[in-house]
Amino acid sequence: MRAGLRIAEFDANSTPGFKGDKSAAKELIVERGDYLSKLQELLYANGRAGDRRSVLLVLQGMDTSGKGGIVRHVMGLVDPQGVSNHSFGVPTEEEQAQHYLQRIRRALPVGGQIGVFDRSHYEDVLVVRVHDLVPESEWSARYDEINAFEAEVAASGTIIVKVVLVVSFAEQKARLAERLERPDKFWKYSPSDIDERAHWLEYQEAYQAVLDKTSTAHAPWHVVPCDRKWFARTAVMELVIDALERQHLNWPPADFDVEAEKARLAQS
Ligand code: ADP
Repeated sequence: MRAGLRIAEFDANSTPGFKGDKSAAKELIVERGDYLSKLQELLYANGRAGDRRSVLLVLQGMDTSGKGGIVRHVMGLVDPQGVSNHSFGVPTEEEQAQHYLQRIRRALPVGGQIGVFDRSHYEDVLVVRVHDLVPESEWSARYDEINAFEAEVAASGTIIVKVVLVVSFAEQKARLAERLERPDKFWKYSPSDIDERAHWLEYQEAYQAVLDKTSTAHAPWHVVPCDRKWFARTAVMELVIDALERQHLNWPPADFDVEAEKARLAQS
């Protein structure tokens, strides 16, 4: 993330670093999807051999920003065995009785996996802050706590990729309108989406604080414009590819004697 980035001034309709159009992006996703899938298989193979390395993709964004579409269109390109998806909604009564990071810890990817969080512990400084769900003294201490938590996760071998998907106010309205027009999209609509929309500015402030306070060397934020869904999907795919490449993976060596096994096979 560029230092000093102001989310309120961010152009959600831009396509930074990408010169092509929608069809070029779709072609790229297919082509790079093969590569992503290969890298994911490498990660998985290493995990099976006992390696603890993993990748965690954290997706945050306002309603309609396309988090679900990214999970389907990008992570859907790799072997589902190697992906663990978690959506974080309003905490259950049981979760509420626990520390807010507890449900997050339980959902962290194990070695060899790509974990995907659709919403995350950041809700505990976003919706919680906007709606005063806990006192300020409590949520304001969470930024440092989250940084320490993520440092621990990163040190254990997980590369953390944090993405804020930025949709514009106008595009959100258009997407909500579409949900209200199409019976196949009613299920995605919730009347509370309009209530949340009324808090747009407070959410922008809360997101700004997240970017300012929790973009660290071990877990930087990436701010991705998503008024054009095809761009957001391409961008997130490249971020996941980059994270996998940074694990510098090789195929794990055989844990058996290859020549002896060949000889046994020949005689069988
Ligand atoms: P989505 O809107 O992502 O499709 P849901 O309809 O399940 O999924 O909405 C999840 C809701 O849960 C969001 O309104 C979100 O703000 C809320 N939520 C998530 N985490 C928390 C939390 N820790 N405390 C309160 N509300 C939360």
